[in-house]
Amino acid sequence: MSTGVPTTFIYDDFKCSIALPEIMMTGDDFDVQVYYQGNPVRDPSNFGGLVFEQGYIYNLGIGIASNPHNFGRGWFPCFDNFMERSTYEYIVTHSSAYNAHCVGTEIDITNNGDGSITTTYAMDQPITTYQSSIAASNYVELWSEHEGMEGSIPVKLICKPGDSTAMKSSFGNLGGTIDCMESWYGPYVWERVGYVATTVGAMEHPTNIAYPISSINGNANSNTRLVSHEFAHNWFGNMITLTTSMDMWIKEGPAEYGWHQTAECIYGYEEFLEVVKDNHLYVLERAHVDDEGFRALSGMPNEFTYGTHTYRKGASVIHNLRGYLGDELFAIGMKSILENYLYSHLDADEFRDEITMSTGFDATDFFDAWIFNPGFSVFVDDSISSVKDW
Ligand SMILES: [Zn+2]
Repeated sequence: MSTGVPTTFIYDDFKCSIALPEIMMTGDDFDVQVYYQGNPVRDPSNFGGLVFEQGYIYNLGIGIASNPHNFGRGWFPCFDNFMERSTYEYIVTHSSAYNAHCVGTEIDITNNGDGSITTTYAMDQPITTYQSSIAASNYVELWSEHEGMEGSIPVKLICKPGDSTAMKSSFGNLGGTIDCMESWYGPYVWERVGYVATTVGAMEHPTNIAYPISSINGNANSNTRLVSHEFAHNWFGNMITLTTSMDMWIKEGPAEYGWHQTAECIYGYEEFLEVVKDNHLYVLERAHVDDEGFRALSGMPNEFTYGTHTYRKGASVIHNLRGYLGDELFAIGMKSILENYLYSHLDADEFRDEITMSTGFDATDFFDAWIFNPGFSVFVDDSISSVKDW
C-alpha cells in the first residue's frame, strides 16, 4: 500500500505519530521508512555520545551520567536497552583528509570527487545500541595477524600517524591476552580484533574498541589491564549481555577478572595472586566508601551502576566462583552461559541457574551470599582448642 508515498507526522521528542494514508485494519502489515537528522549530543559526564575534539570524531556507546546508560540515542534513534539487538549498516560521508572505521566489515570506500569520501561498513552479528560504533580521523591502520584457536585473526590498531610506534608497543601483550581469553572462554567470535584511538575511553565496541590516547604510552605492561579488560568484554558484554543495568556485574565482573586471568597467563601464578589480593583489599577498603554503603551486586541502584562494587567486587566474586568450582567446572559453567545466551541477555537468576545446570554445583548459596546480598561471606574463629589424639 502507498509504496513510496510521503506522509505527515507529529513528533513530540518522545513519540512519533504518523498519519496513515489509508485506513489500516488490525493484523495488516506495513513498513514505514523513517528519515531523521539532527545534532548528536554528548553525555554530561563527558563519557558517552558522539564527540568532535582534537581532530577525532567518535562515539562512546555508554553515557555514564545518562539514564538509561545505553547511549545509542546520542547519535541515532533506537531502543536503548541491553536486550534488543540488530545488525547495522554504516554509510559515512566525511572529509577526504579523514578515514572512517566502524564495527564490523569495511564494505566500500568511494571518493565522491568533491573533497569527500563515503565509507560503508556492515556489522552482520547482532549487537545492542551501545555496542554500535564509529570513529574518524586522519588515522593510520596498523594491521597484523594473530594465530587464534580457530585460525588466524586479523588485528587492526588505529591511531594518528605520530602515535603508531607507541600504539604498537602499548599493545605488546595483546597476543597473550587473546590466547588467554580463548583458553578460558573459547574461540573469539568477532571477525577481527580492533582498537581505535579516541580522546576519551575505553569502551568495548566489538572490533572497534575505543582506546584512550592517554594510554598510548608505548609501555605494554602498564596497559595490559586496560587492553585485557576491554578484550574480555568480547565474551562477557558483547556475546552475552545483561537484561538490565541492575546486573552490570555480569559484564564488568568477568571483564575486570579477565585482567586477572591475563596476568596469570602472561606473568604467572605469583603475580596473579598479587593482582587478586590487591583487588580484594581495594574492595574491602573502598567499595562501601565509594558506593556509599555495602551493596549487593545484583539490584544495583542506577547511580552506582559503574561503581567499585560492580567492577572490583564483581572481579573478586568471579574469582571466588572459580575457587568454588575449580578451573575445569568454572570454564564449563562460563562457556555454557556464552553458548546458551549467545547474542542475548541474562539476569543474576539465570546466571545462577545456568552455572548450576551446566556444572552440577548448586550455586544457590553462593549467589545468595555473594550476588544477592551486600557484604562478605566469611569464617571467623572465635576460639581455638587442641585435643591430644596420640
Ligand atoms: Zn568494562
